[in-house]
Amino acid sequence: MQIRIFFIVIQSFLLRMAVLLRRLFGLRSISALEYNQFRASFYRKQVCFAAERNLFFSHNGDMLPCCFNREFVFGDVDSQKIPGVLSGERRRTLAEKLRNNDFSSGCEVCHKKIETCDYRSIGARVYDFFHAPTNPMPLIMEFELSQNCNLDCIMCPPELHAHSRSTVYNEEFLDGLKPYLLKLKKARFFGGEPFLIQEYYAIWDFLITNNKTCLNLVQTNGTVLSQRIKDILTNGNFALSISVDSLQKEMYEKIRAGAHFEQFQENLNWFFDHTKRKKTYINFAICPMTVNAKEIPEIVRFANNLGARVNFNTVDFPKTLSLKHLPSSELKEIILLYKTEEFKSRNSVARYNAQHFRSLISRIEGYFRDAISNEQEVRVSFTKAELLELLQRKLPHTAEDALLDKLKLAVDGLKMEIKLRETDVLQINSVESLVFEAWVAGNANAALIEKFSAIILYGFQEM
Ligand code: SF4
Repeated sequence: MQIRIFFIVIQSFLLRMAVLLRRLFGLRSISALEYNQFRASFYRKQVCFAAERNLFFSHNGDMLPCCFNREFVFGDVDSQKIPGVLSGERRRTLAEKLRNNDFSSGCEVCHKKIETCDYRSIGARVYDFFHAPTNPMPLIMEFELSQNCNLDCIMCPPELHAHSRSTVYNEEFLDGLKPYLLKLKKARFFGGEPFLIQEYYAIWDFLITNNKTCLNLVQTNGTVLSQRIKDILTNGNFALSISVDSLQKEMYEKIRAGAHFEQFQENLNWFFDHTKRKKTYINFAICPMTVNAKEIPEIVRFANNLGARVNFNTVDFPKTLSLKHLPSSELKEIILLYKTEEFKSRNSVARYNAQHFRSLISRIEGYFRDAISNEQEVRVSFTKAELLELLQRKLPHTAEDALLDKLKLAVDGLKMEIKLRETDVLQINSVESLVFEAWVAGNANAALIEKFSAIILYGFQEM
């Protein structure tokens, strides 16, 4: 026993030294072992418990290990009902892989955060809070039963913009869900906007009556609030995660297109009053992006004042909004700005928020290192003629002369030679001819030249 304790102490000491050295010299995380130092000791035997403890229902009917892994589908709601998925081979396979720190089956998103030491926002931590891994019944369920939404947020893909949508989940599914709902410790509800998804009300009513202790966490944009919602929140065991990306009316309404800032503020006041009455809690889900990066410290201060915990989402697309794709000079500016921040408040929520803010800095430092190495890649100068030749090859052989003329006009409109990295050329080459043809055909107007430069920098698929 003493020898075991001795080894645990030595291992802990060595890993803490590794963390310290990495911080001092800006090195990357050494492994999942280092991440484990941030977790309670009884969770460390496995990097993630989602496969065993959780089940996520995607809007298209897929059942998956968690809301972060959209690749490793356990089964779908039509062909394989919940019991089949829970006893299925794929669930066991993923659990086994995660026991071996193997992130190759759709878990790269968590792995990347471990690598960049962005420990506080690692999705896997959500599933660290419950024991009983041997129980085949999930203790957590995550629902994304529809993408119904009322907003056109700028970071959402256009196909998700404000529309009412049908769901593949029917009454039979909701009935089959009930035995599992009885056992849940936590249920998480996503959208679209969850308060606009009617199927959730049936689940909430059932949980309020039959499983009062289950914590229901709703990820809401905070713009929808009716008497029915107030009653549900009052009668049930709920906590909210509210999207807050700006506290400035203009920027807020630019990001959350379709929302009204004043209405959001009014709702927020009700949510916080309600939280105090019920002694529950609110988290802020923040999307740090190119347009609001400098406002993030202010949002953290606002959260500290209200006693809300902050969590930072990762926006990878569109690239024009993603911090990941900023040049190193701009990333450095953000890092320096964040590092000058001293949050005065010292209560437990403020300490939590400060830790998450430091984790966000680690994430951005990772982007910074990637940007530096990208920028050091050799760039090759293309004359207009060479660029035209490269792009002409992208058009289908059947392309009409008018289309070729449009392309030529666009290249002629460029002010100077253009420098491309090898990866840019690879990106251009990877675009399908028909996609490129459609782009050229659809954009031959006065804005083409400007977009034409952006196409090379940001990729065709987003134009
Ligand atoms: S490692 Fe991350 S992505 Fe994979 S199952 Fe766990 S939480 Fe989901």
